[in-house]
Amino acid sequence: MHHDHLISAKQLSRDDIEAVLDRAAEIAADPDAVAGSRSDTLLGLLFFEPSTRTRMSFDAAMQRLGGGTIDMGSVDASSVKKGESLADTVRVIEGYADALVLRHPSEGSAKLASEFVDIPVINAGDGAGQHPTQTLLDLYTIRENAGFDDLTIGIMGDLKYGRTVHSLAHALTNFEATQHFISPESLRLPSEVRYDLRSAGTTVHEHTEIDNAIETLDVLYVTRIQRERFPDESEYQKVAGEYRIDSTVLESAGSDLTLMHPLPRVDEISPEIDETTYAKYFEQAHNGIPVRMALLDQIL
Ligand code: ASP
Repeated sequence: MHHDHLISAKQLSRDDIEAVLDRAAEIAADPDAVAGSRSDTLLGLLFFEPSTRTRMSFDAAMQRLGGGTIDMGSVDASSVKKGESLADTVRVIEGYADALVLRHPSEGSAKLASEFVDIPVINAGDGAGQHPTQTLLDLYTIRENAGFDDLTIGIMGDLKYGRTVHSLAHALTNFEATQHFISPESLRLPSEVRYDLRSAGTTVHEHTEIDNAIETLDVLYVTRIQRERFPDESEYQKVAGEYRIDSTVLESAGSDLTLMHPLPRVDEISPEIDETTYAKYFEQAHNGIPVRMALLDQIL
């Protein structure tokens, strides 16, 4: 990858993506070959918002490469609580670590942070903006299960506030995938994302019901309604629980449908699906390790 920072999936060309995925596949096949290869590296973890998978898998990935991590910990226990600005925080941590992984509730925060430091900044989610490393593991999972040739994908749920959606949709323009977007009217893709996709030559097929699209899909990517981003709780209540994938919905799906979810799931996918061959969301989460190892290996 030719970039110092990874801020947005828009930065990634098909070659960039395939280089990370190929490296991740090599690492997955033989993790011992890279164990200890980054023993001189310290990764700074700065999470201003809750995280389970992203924080732990970056930590595990760095340790599996032989390096270490330093974690700012919770916002309540840090100097952010005393009113420190993001710019000051990252300038300080720059002196402690070789790269930073940043999650923050404000869109644009990773870009801003990258302007204050000379070490690589990896965006681990900036509000409703982008989540490019999730996209890399999503693409890895898609490549393993469905492949990129002639790919038809449905992306469903909270398309307005879902940063994993924005990153994935952008990245998929590199693969000429047919993209269907299924959401309540109030949670449609933001107009700037639609504009970017169309400018990249992607037709944006929008639906309010999954029934109109499901039988054509190779991959269905389900997302959680992002309750924490709604300015008004009553607006959230209007759409909460609107979509749920269960065995009845999947009756119309192709037998080799790949069902994905960035997790955490609330009630979008019925647990009865977990044991079916459709369910790839736990595999998807596990793919975070080789993919983040490959990314760290390249970016550092
Ligand atoms: N874990 C993902 C994210 O941080 C998806 C989600 O929270 O719904 O964006």
